[in-house]
Amino acid sequence: TAPSDFHFATTQEAKKLVKPRRKFSHKGTYGHALLLCGSYGKMGAAVLAARSCLRSGVGLLTMHVPEAGYTILQTAVPEAMTHTDRHQKYLSELPEGLEKYSAIGLGPGIGTDKMTKAALAQLLTTSTSPIVIDADAINIIATSDKLKAELPKHKVIFTPHPKEFERLVGKAKNDYDRLQDMKEFCREYSCYICLKGANTAICTPEGTIYFNTTGNAGMATGGTGDVLTGILTALVAQNYSLEQACLLGVFAHGLAGDLASQKVGEIGMIASDLIDHLPQAFIALT
Ligand code: AMP
Ligand code: MG
Repeated sequence: TAPSDFHFATTQEAKKLVKPRRKFSHKGTYGHALLLCGSYGKMGAAVLAARSCLRSGVGLLTMHVPEAGYTILQTAVPEAMTHTDRHQKYLSELPEGLEKYSAIGLGPGIGTDKMTKAALAQLLTTSTSPIVIDADAINIIATSDKLKAELPKHKVIFTPHPKEFERLVGKAKNDYDRLQDMKEFCREYSCYICLKGANTAICTPEGTIYFNTTGNAGMATGGTGDVLTGILTALVAQNYSLEQACLLGVFAHGLAGDLASQKVGEIGMIASDLIDHLPQAFIALT
């Protein structure tokens, strides 16, 4: 590999990516996102993804959640429209009219129930929208060659943490090999991967890798990944390219963490603090 295959994301670059709001625009200008998230006992993941999606500039947001999540979502996130699954505890179906969504995010809190796997398979065979795939949606795809084979037909961003990455791409004997495996996977399946951690590594289908430079260890706490899913889905819904969305979204997510740490420190930080500081992060990048 040539060293030039690796890049570091800078504030200047992130700033160039931000599209300012236009005066004569309306909510239809900024896309309609769909998030498929949550299961019984994990509706918090759906709430975090929904709130971060809305804090990242999306025009409209529809949530599709298990029946048990209806009151939770409508109460915790009044700005989102909430559509419920016929199943009480798990996602088992897709909402109608998938084609109207400009981006679909899925995975936070969904679990790996058989019904959920079937719904995901249906999504990959019917949807034409760009998709942000996180958490258990990654784990589901990782175990199915048939689902993996559908990937090149879609515009896909994966956001695995290291364990999810290992399930999806395989185990590497060192960090360098892991990056090589990531490039190979992105080329083969024509997808983007944000391999999360300190200095999240973003890989393009061409095999270019960018290392993120924002964020801190306060973000090593439950729910921060769900926040990233919401941000990326919002950016893709607003017509940022997948590459722009990955670079700007991961940068803004880490920056929100850095701004949060100035207020609450790293030890006391929770995922909601990132959402609370997203507006300030986007101000700093505009
Ligand atoms: P997840 O494991 O899915 O909840 O995602 C965790 C999120 O927190 C990812 O966006 C990581 O990049 C971020 N994160 C976790 N640990 C650190 C760390 N030590 N430094 C910076 N960011 C981190
Ligand atoms: Mg996660």
